[in-house]
Amino acid sequence: MSSCCPHQVNEFCRKVGSAYCRPGMRGCVLFGKVTFQDGEVPYPVWPPGADPRERGRAEAQLRARGGPDRRER
Ligand code: SF4
Repeated sequence: MSSCCPHQVNEFCRKVGSAYCRPGMRGCVLFGKVTFQDGEVPYPVWPPGADPRERGRAEAQLRARGGPDRRER
């Protein structure tokens, strides 16, 4: 996706532990500001081989904000 988000580096989101950039997903600066056609707010998805510490920190932050324990896909 092409965007001008300052957190995006290539296809990854530095705000959400280097998960794939999915505008509007949980943890995104656009979270709660957009609606999705299916009504489901996406969960972060990490690329294979993602740094487990960085991912763990991001998932802990999402849990602290009332997000899910695990991503669903
Ligand atoms: S997911 Fe949101 S905050 Fe992260 S890079 Fe994409 S648009 Fe920016």
